[in-house]
Formats: sequence, C-alpha cells, structure tokens
Amino acid sequence: MHFSDILISWYSKYKRELPWRNTISPYHVWLSEIILQQTRVAQGLSYYNTFVKSYPGIEDLANDSEDNVLKLWQGLGYYSRARNLHATAKIVSSEFNGVFPATYDEIIKLKGVGAYTAAAISSFCYGEKKAVVDGNVYRVLSRYFGISTPIDSSIGKKEFQELAQECLSSENPGEHNQAIMEFGALQCTPNPNCETCPLQTSCIAYANSAVKAFPVKAKKIQVRDRYFNFIVIGDNDSFYIQKRVSKDIWQNLYQFPLQESEKEIISPLELEESLVNKSVFLKVSEQYKHVLSHQRIYAKFWEFHVGELPSLNGCKKIKKSDIAEFAIPRLIEKYLESIKN
Ligand code: SF4
Repeated sequence: MHFSDILISWYSKYKRELPWRNTISPYHVWLSEIILQQTRVAQGLSYYNTFVKSYPGIEDLANDSEDNVLKLWQGLGYYSRARNLHATAKIVSSEFNGVFPATYDEIIKLKGVGAYTAAAISSFCYGEKKAVVDGNVYRVLSRYFGISTPIDSSIGKKEFQELAQECLSSENPGEHNQAIMEFGALQCTPNPNCETCPLQTSCIAYANSAVKAFPVKAKKIQVRDRYFNFIVIGDNDSFYIQKRVSKDIWQNLYQFPLQESEKEIISPLELEESLVNKSVFLKVSEQYKHVLSHQRIYAKFWEFHVGELPSLNGCKKIKKSDIAEFAIPRLIEKYLESIKN
C-alpha cells in the first residue's frame, strides 16, 4: 500500500471523534483550526463548543465586541489569535457578504491565516489539493523519509512543503491531511509507539534506530526573563485596572497597573511614585512564575490601600466584584483566585 493509503486506513480506524470533523462548514473548520494552533485538543474542545454556542454563524462573531471575544478566549493564551479571529469575521462579513471564501488563494489573504490554516480549510471543506504542514506533519515526514534538513530553516520549510504536496492523495486530499496530522498526534508522537506502527517496515528513522533524532531543529528558542510588578490599588470595594494597548503579550486584555522592571523588586519604595501616590502599602504577594513560549514572567502583586482612589492615567476604576466581566491573563486570574481563599 502507498504511504497515503496506509495513513488514511489507519485514520479510519483510530481517529478521535471531534465535532469539527463532522462538518465541512468553513466557518467551523476555521474556528477549530485557529483554536487548535498552539493548543491541545483536550483544552481546545471546550473553547470550540463555547464559541460555536455563542456565535453560531460568522456574522454573530463579527457583530460582537472584541472585549467579549477576548473574554471567551480567556485562559487559552496567544491572544492575537482571538483578535485576528474577530477582525477576520468582520472582513468576511463586510467584504464577502458573510460567506467564507472558498479557495486557498483567497483564504490565505485573511488575517491570522497562514499557509497551514488555508490548506486545512481549502482541503477539508472544498477538496482543494493543498498539503498541510504543521508540527505533527514535520515529525512524521522527517522520520519516515529520514530527512535531516532543519524544519525551522527556510530551506527546510520549502523542502517539507514540497514533499507533503508530493505525498498528498489526489483523490482525497482533505482526508489525507487529517490523517497525517492525527497520525502525528497519536502514533508518531515525540515518544512514538513504533512497534504498532503500520509504516514501520518502510520508515527510515526506525530502520536506523534514530527515531528520536528527528525532526532536526537549527535554533534553540531564546527565552527572555521579564519582571512584572502589578499595583493592586484600591479601597474596600474597588480597584483599578488598565487595558494593555501596546503590541506585546496580552494585547487588549486587562491587568492591574503595571511597572515592569529589569530585575526583581524587593521593596515598595522601588515602585514608581506616580503609581502608588499617597496610598498605604499593605502587602506584597509571593512571586508568580508564568512561562510562555519565549518569555518567563516573574510577577508580584503589590497591594495598596487608598481611601479615595486617585485618577491614574489610562486606568479604569471598577468594583472588585465586576472583574469577571473583563478578559484578563491567566496570571492575574491565578492571583485573584489566591486572594479569594
Ligand atoms: S515507525 Fe515510528 S518513527 Fe516511523 S513513522 Fe512509525 S511511529 Fe513514526
């Protein structure tokens, strides 16, 4: 049997039943693909169901506010996905009359949609012959064909894209694409189960006892340390929050007023006067460590009391009990959970 036939046959036996696999609606497939970028299926599933329930059609998503979309996205991370999702829904609504574009070339022009997502939507929904290449596909192809070109180099990206396209089933490109990704997610995983693999007899990495050597990466991820000092300033009922407007992590989410520092701050006297003006220092939280793909955030929450809240630039005074209405990063959510107990 051919590589593609083996994958499709394996897929028909072992695939997971997932709601976006029972539809060829490009809106639903797009939603699932954006949610599943950088997210595990187990975590993404409940978000997918919530989004479909809240926004049954793309117009419903387009007509809601970005704040509400971010709120639904809260906890999933990589918030630019939610902002792009909303922006794209608006574009489809205004420029395509609410009808999702039907070809790879049109889909790839949408905001937040790269080659992978455009290939997934156009092949799953319209049977277009476009191969998907995601992390799972890199792993399967590099091992099976024994290719050691780094997957994070431009030459490697081109080589794997061409190979994936050559391997693609011309009769059933959508099923093939789903099959190879599922195969990478369940069978040819970082710790694969080669003994039960239907591709084992022709797998080059297996034949050379070099499975773990693939895929090859050229660069190590550079991780940056950042120190966040959140100023929790308020009276008995209220505190201040502010929207993160700059192009940085968590853009357009809400947080407490923030002072970022070069290194850990250990005394409230090191905080900026303008942020804590005439307020009484109460206490500081333990240090929270929050790890993202390229950053390690070390955060402290400095609590201050003021009888009457001063006006702080760009800040919004809200009732503490109303914080649930705002989209906040998981780090802030963790702190709020800890002070509830
Ligand atoms: S034999 Fe192992 S490494 Fe090769 S394709 Fe199968 S699971 Fe992947």
